[in-house]
Amino acid sequence: MPEGDNVWQAAVRLHAGLAGKRLAASDFRVPSLATLDLSGWTVLEVASRGKHLLHRLAPPPDQADEPLSIHSHLKMEGSWHVYAPGERWRKPAHTARVVLRAEDGTSAVGFSLGVLEVMPTAEEGRVVGHLGPDLLGEDWDADRAEANLRARPDRAIGLALLDQRNLAGIGNIYRNELCFLARVHPAAPVAAVADLPKMVATARRLLEVNRARPSRNTTGGFGPRDDSWVYGRAGQPCKRCRTRIVHATLGEPAEAAPGTWPVEQRERDIYYCPSCQPAP
Ligand SMILES: [Zn+2]
Repeated sequence: MPEGDNVWQAAVRLHAGLAGKRLAASDFRVPSLATLDLSGWTVLEVASRGKHLLHRLAPPPDQADEPLSIHSHLKMEGSWHVYAPGERWRKPAHTARVVLRAEDGTSAVGFSLGVLEVMPTAEEGRVVGHLGPDLLGEDWDADRAEANLRARPDRAIGLALLDQRNLAGIGNIYRNELCFLARVHPAAPVAAVADLPKMVATARRLLEVNRARPSRNTTGGFGPRDDSWVYGRAGQPCKRCRTRIVHATLGEPAEAAPGTWPVEQRERDIYYCPSCQPAP
């Protein structure tokens, strides 16, 4: 499940593979972009903002077009791969949504992307302007993230952490792990978190540490089952107190719907220790 650290890693790989290169061909395999041809355009950079990816491109020298951005979001299943010339794809071709081929033969392929659109770079704010401070971004601002969370003290902390307007980069795995580490039930209100600055600092630290790792680990353990405290561990003993971990779902109450961030269907799953994290 892609979270901010995966998206950051994808941006680094894509930037290393494409930045400064001119495209020999582009192939958008979504109806709305099927006729778009970016051959001759140069990839200036690939950046991440929270869980969003932005390829920024400059037009061919003889074209007066304004710079464009390819905006993509991995959602639940998406991924971007970078391939050397002639290298075999590691995902089925029918799941490819876009292929960008540079003049040196390097290809970037976006598979099963949840969002794929192209817009003038000047209009990126439309898709990422709402985001709170990026946990892995140069604009990271812990005080602002904390203030954003506190702005709605009655909201469930498990929902507030996923709301990318508060702070950007946390997905379902991290929000569950963060609640466990803070010994707070995901449905408990923000105001019930004993040390919110510490929770925000832990979020930043977990993403920073994991962006350098090939696979995510929130516990520091080494075994194959030691990579999480509670996420995905329903029915298994809590690593602190041996109580069995509980799996449930957490959604936004209907009356709170206006103005709330849509929680992905599969981001409703919560995992917690009923003893370490008593229900509110
Ligand atoms: Zn426990």
